[in-house]
Amino acid sequence: MFEAMSGLNRPEEEADWQQFSSMKQVAWKTGTSYGGRDAWAIGVTPRYVVGVWVGNATGEGRSGLTGVGYAAPILFDIYSLLPDVPWFDQPYDELEEVAVCRQSGHKASAICDEVDTVYIPRTGIATAVCPYHRIVHLSQDGQYRVNSSCESVSRMQERSWFVLPPAQAYYYKNYHVEYQALPPLKPGCEEDQSRQIAILYPEHQAVLYLPKGFSGEREKVVMRATHARSDATFYWHLDDVYLGETRQIHQMACLVEPGNHILTLLDEDGNRRSILFEVRK
Ligand SMILES: [Zn+2]
Repeated sequence: MFEAMSGLNRPEEEADWQQFSSMKQVAWKTGTSYGGRDAWAIGVTPRYVVGVWVGNATGEGRSGLTGVGYAAPILFDIYSLLPDVPWFDQPYDELEEVAVCRQSGHKASAICDEVDTVYIPRTGIATAVCPYHRIVHLSQDGQYRVNSSCESVSRMQERSWFVLPPAQAYYYKNYHVEYQALPPLKPGCEEDQSRQIAILYPEHQAVLYLPKGFSGEREKVVMRATHARSDATFYWHLDDVYLGETRQIHQMACLVEPGNHILTLLDEDGNRRSILFEVRK
């Protein structure tokens, strides 16, 4: 954990943290509260824990007050005054070298194609192997997925493919241009496609508290979904009332009354997914 918090790869942080990290090895984390009321940074080395809070004692907020911008520089100023101490020793007695899937970070299965050998805590050895690399069967030209309902086994090629569930793929693609969706199923092949629909918002059994807009009117709920196929069309239904259809960007804004609701999405192939949610005042 200390390695992770002192490492170079911190996508959630702003860029200027790097100038600090070269000075001294410190495991550190920053935070910023809503409205710029609190900027904090906390750091740890084998000898010293340093906490920094920046803000107004009255609690008044200030725009632009962030942990990384204001608290972290003070944190590193303090560490630069403290004596150097050696970094933590690797606790090799509690670690074991394990093959890990480079794409998922899970323990590698036999079909994960890129594997890193890393030390992990012994307690992690019992975790499941990568569930995202799957064997898929493709047509001879590799353009389509096929199965025994439409292709003879001798004409299939077997490949390992990294497949995320639709909701995860939706976010993962934004940061990984190399992510390749599964090829489409060859026309004439049969498959249950309901798993390809994911409702991103609201989540199943969510409770929503509706904010009011500036004019005091209730605001619409913006519901979002995604489909494993980018050209899919969704037909949206709330409590069996048809709301409309979406293509490519699957968002539907709707005024929703307080109470329990069922959101149902259908695609053009008739696959459906439903979730329950509740709206409270
Ligand atoms: Zn894998």
